Amino acid sequence: MIKKYKNPIAKKIKRVKIMITVFSGGTGTPKLIQGIKEIYPEEEITVVVNTVENLYMSRGYIAADIDTVMYTFADMIDEEFWYGIKGDTFIVREQLIEMGTTELLRLGDKDRATKLQKAILLEEGWALSDIVELQKDKLGIKARIIPMSDEESEISIVTKEHGEIEFHDFLIKYQCNCEVLEVKYANVSPSPKLIESIEKCDKVIFGPSNPITSIRPIISIDGVEDALKEKEVIAVSPFVGKSAFSGPAGQFMNAFGYETSSKGVAELYKSFLNTLVIDNQDEEFKEEIEEIIPNVIVTNTFMKTIEDKINLAKIILE
Ligand code: GDP
Repeated sequence: MIKKYKNPIAKKIKRVKIMITVFSGGTGTPKLIQGIKEIYPEEEITVVVNTVENLYMSRGYIAADIDTVMYTFADMIDEEFWYGIKGDTFIVREQLIEMGTTELLRLGDKDRATKLQKAILLEEGWALSDIVELQKDKLGIKARIIPMSDEESEISIVTKEHGEIEFHDFLIKYQCNCEVLEVKYANVSPSPKLIESIEKCDKVIFGPSNPITSIRPIISIDGVEDALKEKEVIAVSPFVGKSAFSGPAGQFMNAFGYETSSKGVAELYKSFLNTLVIDNQDEEFKEEIEEIIPNVIVTNTFMKTIEDKINLAKIILE
């Protein structure tokens, strides 16, 4: 298949035909996916998406990370929030507020339809994997998108200030301004194609997603870590120095006893990780991290422009 390159710098990649499987949450990795999909045929990409934060809200089934990955492939994602559909309207939300009903999540109309359809089909007995397949097909996406599990998940955050709270309350109500003591989630069974998607690919890529709430839930599923040990695994660090590029990854790493840095990421993934990509600003830690895992690549990992995203994708794929 001849890929149509949308960006001039995309042409420069030397294509090596391999199947890749990407592990994703809902912000860092989708940015990398934007780069990958510019230089790589979509049908050779599988994305395994975290489901631990899924929940029912406002009568819809909120699978935020899955929807973000779908909207990213379909070029619909609202890049301001890495949530929802760009240019969406908020007629239902505004009318609900007008009539005295408030919602924690700010759902746009089209995005609400995605979430309502999931809830309706789940109620009819569909598996989440099948619903995602239907929705991504309808959006014209050729990549495979696999929820890590078809089972219900639960995640809660134990904080010093408010005790055990819901993940979305931590994010939205408390704006992450709490001391995190523990992150709790139950283990779930793999969705039907999860293990196969690792076994059949040539390279597994962890985008720079939150190591504790986006990637670790996938790794914790029975059979995943063993399958990863048989593969070439490359991860992009979501940290620069002691800070995450965005969000609460640092607080969560601390709660699990890991350093809030690329070194901490290497420690967390060391049983299977071949290569960690760290930022130029962390070059001084390269040798220290190479004592934990075999290879470290130093490059710009800050994905601001599409060129940044493509360049990082090229380094990972070549
Ligand atoms: P969530 O599901 O919304 O929490 O999103 P993810 O888990 O996919 O991603 C969140 C992580 O992405 C955070 O820990 C950020 O540090 C990281 N991140 C966001 N933007 C960038 C970026 O441009 N570069 C890198 N390296 N990491 C990023």
